[in-house]
Amino acid sequence: MNRALDIEKANPNAPAMPAGGERESAPPSLIGLTRAELRAAMLEIGVPERQAKMRADQLWRWVYHFGVMDFSAMTNVAKAMRASLEERFTLARPEISTRLISTDGTRKYLIRLADGAEVEAVFIPGVGRAGALCVSSQVGCTLNCTFCHTGTQRLVRNLTAAEIVAQVMIARDDLEEWPTSNEDRQLTNIVFMGMGEPLYNLDNVAKAMDVISDGEGISISRRRITVSTSGVVSEMARLGYDTSAMLAISLHATNDALRDVLVPINRKWPLEELMQACRDYPGLSNARRITFEYVMLKGVNDSIAEAKALVKMLSGIPAKINLIPFNPWPDAPYECSDWETIERFAEVVNRAGYASPIRTPRGRDIFAACGQLKSESVKVRASERRAGA
Ligand code: SAH
Ligand code: SF4
Repeated sequence: MNRALDIEKANPNAPAMPAGGERESAPPSLIGLTRAELRAAMLEIGVPERQAKMRADQLWRWVYHFGVMDFSAMTNVAKAMRASLEERFTLARPEISTRLISTDGTRKYLIRLADGAEVEAVFIPGVGRAGALCVSSQVGCTLNCTFCHTGTQRLVRNLTAAEIVAQVMIARDDLEEWPTSNEDRQLTNIVFMGMGEPLYNLDNVAKAMDVISDGEGISISRRRITVSTSGVVSEMARLGYDTSAMLAISLHATNDALRDVLVPINRKWPLEELMQACRDYPGLSNARRITFEYVMLKGVNDSIAEAKALVKMLSGIPAKINLIPFNPWPDAPYECSDWETIERFAEVVNRAGYASPIRTPRGRDIFAACGQLKSESVKVRASERRAGA
């Protein structure tokens, strides 16, 4: 059943991928570049060294505050310089191959990157201060959590920082939120809960956060950016020190035997080490709590005893608990717990002092919910490419 209200192919005029998978070499886009990279781009078009920073700052404002898509809109940039910019660069965003809007207002974007790989970003209204964008950090995921659809995707690579930033720009374009307003904006929060394990791509995630949180541009503050990890303990301290991001942990089990199965990275970093890394997370306080995500799997991890174990395990850690009803996908080996079971589990969590722990599933009708993200098109395109070769 597809209850999606609006299915459309965006950008119908965008050039198709040439047969054989090669792309004509288009000029590079400035979208997603850091301040240092924009400055280097200025030097490349012959801006003298002493002016490069000032020019890059000007450009920054046009790109990330006004969101312009055309160099001609940059009215305080000299005509000659606009012409050189135009010749050498573009302001193109990656192509949106499909855009879906759910009956609940959730918007899902399937984004085609320059090499033809695809990732998803999902805008969820009513989450965070006004609305959160769930972004991807990798194409696919190398980890194989048994309840997650993304983990079954074969093609995997890290996203560049620019590709991460571009997801935010695409959502802003679609929500018509340029120039960046500080009042009344719909996109106020970012969650790294899309495809991929962000702590396996931390350098690019951190670089992207520098761009997204910059107050002269997109201006989403670091305390409104949450990074979710399956438990890459070795990178957690660096995440805190380098980015000041809010942390979310995909916990899903309260004992190692079960977590080894559900979240196999647990075999490398078992619960005790994970919990210690949480206690040590830089900046942790009652105002900056860690979110613990717990997917509700029927007959697997949803007993009252486990609810009690969960509460006990988190005692002493400033924490929020998020119970996520399992979102099914084709041939998934699990089912979602019954509603009464979830409520009874939540009741135990609630009595321990954690408010509103159940996360309402969003965008289920468009397969935009947690763990449903998987770009089927990757496979289709690969076979198309083979046919074309
Ligand atoms: N790789 C990171 C971030 C992306 S997953 C991580 O695992 O934390 C975002 C959240 O969705 C994680 O908590 C993940 O465990 C959860 N999730 C994955 N598949 C799900 C499914 N089918 N139903 C509900 N939640 C799921
Ligand atoms: Fe990867 Fe997260 Fe899915 Fe596990 S839950 S397979 S870490 S995306």
